[in-house]
Amino acid sequence: MKQNREIEVAIIGGGTAGLSCAIELKKLGVKDVVVFERASKAGGAPLHCGHKGFGIFEFKRVLTGPEYAEKLVKNAEDLEVDIYLNHTLLRVEDGKLVIITNKGIKNFRAKRVLFATGARETPRSQRLVSGMRDIRIITTGALQRFIYQKNQIPFKSSVIYGSEIVSFSALKTESDFGIKTKAMIEEDGEIKVYPFIRPIAEKFFKTTIHKGVKNSFINSGKNLKFAINSKEIETEGAVFSGSFTPESAVLRESGFKYNLINSSIDISQDFQTSKRGFFAAGNIIRGAYASYKCHYEAKEAAKSIWLSLNNEDDPIFVEIECSSKNIEWYYPTLVNLNSPKKFLTNIKFRDYQKGTLQIYLNEKLIYEKTIEAKPYKVITLPWIDQKLKSTNKVRIELK
Ligand SMILES: Cc1cc2nc3c(=O)[nH]c(=O)nc-3n(C[C@H](O)[C@H](O)[C@H](O)COP(=O)(O)OP(=O)(O)OC[C@H]3O[C@@H](n4cnc5c(N)ncnc54)[C@H](O)[C@@H]3O)c2cc1C
Repeated sequence: MKQNREIEVAIIGGGTAGLSCAIELKKLGVKDVVVFERASKAGGAPLHCGHKGFGIFEFKRVLTGPEYAEKLVKNAEDLEVDIYLNHTLLRVEDGKLVIITNKGIKNFRAKRVLFATGARETPRSQRLVSGMRDIRIITTGALQRFIYQKNQIPFKSSVIYGSEIVSFSALKTESDFGIKTKAMIEEDGEIKVYPFIRPIAEKFFKTTIHKGVKNSFINSGKNLKFAINSKEIETEGAVFSGSFTPESAVLRESGFKYNLINSSIDISQDFQTSKRGFFAAGNIIRGAYASYKCHYEAKEAAKSIWLSLNNEDDPIFVEIECSSKNIEWYYPTLVNLNSPKKFLTNIKFRDYQKGTLQIYLNEKLIYEKTIEAKPYKVITLPWIDQKLKSTNKVRIELK
């Protein structure tokens, strides 16, 4: 593709959100939609999840991850979305997309850009689990790539760290391919999925889930040895699952306003970033969520992008601050005063919290609600109809 051509809408990331947005933009009548994907195949995270559990809401069918990814790619291609593989965004410089390809670095300009680069699991090195480094300690993503893409079984027994829904995806994958999961370890005091899942998993997979395990240690020799409370478990491998971090480092380096709680860029209710013309959707804005959520969110982002193509008004942002501990993520973090879209805040806590969630406008209390937060539940706060000005300060706190 010629570098000097101005693309109408460029999408960075050809996973669930990027492809869903591209499809919706085409349906809205946008002619020129280009997806840049760094991998050699489009489809994103679902490509490596060989189990079923995708597409129930979007396609009214239960699909495996690869089937779901292929359906999105086919729908995009049928609508003549241009998908460029092996194209990785390196940075955004003076409004230009600097992209590395097999043929070197290329610069592209686009009227509108959507970032949909997803999220990745936190590897063991960043989770403060002590002990030796070992090649047999991998993430769920790596486990599933070994099995579903390379047809390799990396080890015959393992311990899974984490108890998010993706940890159970790792458990199912291991069970399906004959890997014995000797234990699951959750460092926090609570399992991070709906309570009915734990007994099913323990009964079906015959794996004990240990919660509140602090200071675990991995000893590495012929086998890995785990100290779980006072018990020792020996396995061939370990999977560090969940604890997703948005793939946003490139944007932070490129000067997009960054939110430390979310470890990602600021985003408004109409999916605009702090820079005009640049939008974001999917797991990049907060970490992992189910694919159908990313799909519907990306469709909404497409509508905002389409509206903005015909609207020269600059967004006017008011920042939403969150000053409570233990928040895993909250979004949107900006209100665009020039958007007709209603503003609702979604908040997810790391662990169990009970209290009153309060919204302050210029330090004056304007809304409160008693909540009981669970680590698997997202709390949505309604937006109180207030006439906001760009100089206003909005703060959310759990008391
Ligand atoms: C192991 C696992 C199991 C899961 N199981 C389920 C399930 O059963 N059901 C369900 O609903 N959801 C499941 N999910 C969640 C679902 O897959 C994701 O929420 C969804 O795919 C997120 O979509 P996304 O577009 O935000 O990110 P992704 O699908 O991850 O797509 C991001 C894309 O961006 C590309 N990219 C990243 N950086 C760049 C760059 N700099 N330049 C160009 N391209 C880039 C990546 O290569 C990738 O293709 C699972 C996720 C995982 C990891």
